[in-house]
Amino acid sequence: MRRFIPVLFLAICTSAFGAEVNGLRVWAGPDKTRAVLDLSDSTDYSVFTLKNPDRVVIDLKRASLKGAISVNHEYSGNIHGVRHGQPDKDTLRLVLDLAKGANLQSFLLAPTGEYGHRLVVDLFDGEHGTATESVKTLATLQGGNRDIVVAIDAGHGGEDPGAIGKNRTREKDVVLQISRRLKDAIDAEPGLRAVLIRDGDYYIPHRERYEKARAHRADLFVSIHADAFKNRDVRGSSVFVLSQSGASSEMARLLAQGENASDLVGGVSLSDKDDLLTSVLLDLSQSATIQASNQVAADILASIGREVKVHKPHVGRANFMVLKSPDVPSVLVETAFISNPGEEKKLTEREFQNDMARSIARGVRNYFYNSPPPGTWVAANRDGTRHIVSRGETLGIIASRYNVDLGTLRQANNLSNDLIRVGAELVIPTS
Ligand SMILES: [Zn+2]
Repeated sequence: MRRFIPVLFLAICTSAFGAEVNGLRVWAGPDKTRAVLDLSDSTDYSVFTLKNPDRVVIDLKRASLKGAISVNHEYSGNIHGVRHGQPDKDTLRLVLDLAKGANLQSFLLAPTGEYGHRLVVDLFDGEHGTATESVKTLATLQGGNRDIVVAIDAGHGGEDPGAIGKNRTREKDVVLQISRRLKDAIDAEPGLRAVLIRDGDYYIPHRERYEKARAHRADLFVSIHADAFKNRDVRGSSVFVLSQSGASSEMARLLAQGENASDLVGGVSLSDKDDLLTSVLLDLSQSATIQASNQVAADILASIGREVKVHKPHVGRANFMVLKSPDVPSVLVETAFISNPGEEKKLTEREFQNDMARSIARGVRNYFYNSPPPGTWVAANRDGTRHIVSRGETLGIIASRYNVDLGTLRQANNLSNDLIRVGAELVIPTS
C-alpha cells in the first residue's frame, strides 16, 4: 500500500519591497543558452539587447539581489559574465555579457514542484545557427549523433526511507530531490540525456534498478545516496564503485550492509541470489566496465571536491548490490552525511542540492568528453572542451587523452611547468 506523507510548507511572506533575486542558473544547449533567474515573487520586468559589446539588459521593478550573482563558466554558453546595477531607486538592472549577438525570448514561470517564481531568458544563436545545423547533419549522416544516456538512481524510496537524520530528514526524500536536479543539469548538457530510475516515493529492488538502466541503454548508472554513521561528527561526500574483492574499509563494509539491507525492507531478499550473481558477474571479465566506473567516479569526485568537503580524497570501493551491472559503468555518490546535523540541514537546502547536482553533472560531462562512446554527438563535437584534473592525472596523460600536443596544452593554460592540482580546470585547445 502506498502511503502519502503530508509535507509541511512554510509560507514565506513576500517582502513589501518586491521580489528578491535568489540566483541565476544558466543552461547551454546546442542552439540556445537559457538563463533562469530564481525570484522570491513575480515582478514587472523588461529585457532588451544592446550591441558593442553584445549584452542583454534585464530590468526588474522593485527587486533586490539576495547575494552575489555569477555565472558558472562550465555552463555559461553564450553568456560570459553578469553585472548588476541600479539605474533608478526602483529598478534592479542585471547585465548579461554575451560572447555573440543573440535573438531573445523571455517569460515568467509560476512556482511548480521544487521551483519558485522564475524569469526565463532564452538566447537563440543568430548568425551561427546554420553552422551548428550543418555540423549536426554531418554527424547524423555518419550515424554519430545519439545522446549519451545517464541513468540516475535515487536510492531507497517507499517503505524504505534510507538513513534518517536527527531532525527526521529522510534520505529517500533528499536524494530524489537531488536526482531530479541532476537530471535537469545533465539534460542541459549538449549531447547528454538523463533518465530517472525512480521518480516518486516508491521502492524498486536493487537488481531492477540496474536492469531498468540497461533497458534504457544507459551509458552510465549513477546511484544517489546520503550517508549515515554513528559518529555524528563525520561529514563530507564520497564516491564509490563496486569492489571486486570485498570492501576496502570497515566503514565501506558497514555502509554496504546498510544500503543492501534495503532490499529486505522492499520485500525481496537477495541473499540467495547474491552469491551466484556475484560469482557470475565478477568472474566474467568486467574489466572494461570496472575501469570506466573507476574513471567516471574519479571525475565526479574531483568535480565535487571543487564545491564541497569530501570525506576521503579517493574513490571508495564497496560491495553495493546496485552497482553490479556487468556492462554499464556504475558509481554510487554518497552526497553528504545525513547523520551530521550540519549536513542534514544542507541536504534539504536548494542551494546545496543544486551545487551537488551541478558538480556531479560536471564530473559526468568531463568523463564523457574525455572518453565519448563512438557514435555519439559528444564524440563528434567535443573539441574546445574543458577538463577537470582528477587524482593521479598528469599533464602528459591529459594531453594524450585529448590527442593534443603537451606544449600546446601548457600554453593554452598559461602553465610554466607541468605541475597541476587535482580539481583544477584546464582548457583543452581544439586540435
Ligand atoms: Zn542510501
